[in-house]
Amino acid sequence: MSTRFDVIVIGGGIAGCATAHYLARDGVSVALLEAGELNAFASGANAGSLHAQIPHDPFVHKGENWARAFTPAVQLFKASLDIWTGLEAELGADLEIGVGGGLLVGANDVEMRQIEAKARIERDAGLEIEMLDRAAIRERAPYLSTNAIGGAFCPSEGKANPLVVAPAFAAAARAHGAHIVSNAGEARVARTGDGYEAAAAGQLFAAPRLVIAAGIETGKLVESLGGSIEIQGFPIQANVTEPAEKFLPHLVYCAGEKLTMKQTRIGTVLIGGGWPAKLDARGRPVADPASLAANLAVAKSVVPAVGALQIVRTWAAIVNGTEDWLPILGELPGAPGAFINYVPWMGFTGGPAAALAIAKMVQGQRPDMGFDLAAFAPQ
Ligand SMILES: Cc1cc2nc3c(=O)[nH]c(=O)nc-3n(C[C@H](O)[C@H](O)[C@H](O)COP(=O)(O)OP(=O)(O)OC[C@H]3O[C@@H](n4cnc5c(N)ncnc54)[C@H](O)[C@@H]3O)c2cc1C
Repeated sequence: MSTRFDVIVIGGGIAGCATAHYLARDGVSVALLEAGELNAFASGANAGSLHAQIPHDPFVHKGENWARAFTPAVQLFKASLDIWTGLEAELGADLEIGVGGGLLVGANDVEMRQIEAKARIERDAGLEIEMLDRAAIRERAPYLSTNAIGGAFCPSEGKANPLVVAPAFAAAARAHGAHIVSNAGEARVARTGDGYEAAAAGQLFAAPRLVIAAGIETGKLVESLGGSIEIQGFPIQANVTEPAEKFLPHLVYCAGEKLTMKQTRIGTVLIGGGWPAKLDARGRPVADPASLAANLAVAKSVVPAVGALQIVRTWAAIVNGTEDWLPILGELPGAPGAFINYVPWMGFTGGPAAALAIAKMVQGQRPDMGFDLAAFAPQ
């Protein structure tokens, strides 16, 4: 005997919880199955940056053609940032959202030329980017080191607290009638005559439609349905300082090295940027002290004031990736009714818009996002 729903969602990170919310809000009966606790993986362990700019490091390494192919993702992030601004009202929760703008800092002429080239592509994609020279960046961000000779400012970027966002989506989904099962163990999915079955928590769930929102486990679930999808996972780490007086209103990046930095509402400074962590003997991500030292050295060289602060915590988690950095959103070829919701690298930022789009697709509607989602199709 199975319990029937309209849709089964696998995964209780931001992708799954937000999808369950938008489906339940539309009156769709939905069961979300999470192997462990909700928000226990990347969605609760990320650095809380709300990005829109094309990430600088892959831009430098992969080049302008890659960046142009990546612009649909910029449009997804832009659409998501619009949703983020109304998300606290939508979910009835304080998500500690702050939109102070993001500042990519250059320290030499080569970096400034790269920043300018990237900004041209971002503007073509409809993103607002302001180029700042030495005087302008000094005035905008007096906390920066005198090494900064200019940069690019994107006013729509910001931050939110990843510890509360997916749980707030889950709570709102529950309030709309979603059935959310955590600690269900790894759900196994199979096709049936009229849809899909998922075995989890000692029960059988059945539905005509399935959404796979399982982060780095997405590939495995797709394989169990006879499909194949290439995804990646990398252990990376992030750090947080003791609280300090407010001095950092922006999300700060550095063109020369991996860095993201922002100050939270309580004054702590979150320092990250995707520095590699290690895997322990059981394959679990653990912090790498060498990455910690290197990350902090970069942070201090860009924003000297952080040098006076104690780091109180460093943590590691697996970030989900794809080779081309593009999300995978849509119906799985050969498995009608099965959808993938997978946003790599910046899946916290893109989570709300991707989930809204998937919720519409699952209901047989064309998502009206203001741009074409074709670049993300699983095929
Ligand atoms: C250290 C770090 C910093 C980051 N910083 C940022 C940032 O600042 N900004 C940003 O936008 N993004 C950031 N990211 C990326 C972002 O966190 C992820 O892209 C996003 O959280 C992915 O969400 P998800 O819901 O797809 O996956 P996850 O959060 O990994 O959730 C997937 C869930 O599926 C469950 N699951 C898997 N298989 C099964 C199964 N068979 N049955 C039941 N449940 C299953 C897992 O238990 C898990 O809870 C960062 C990531 C890391 C690791």
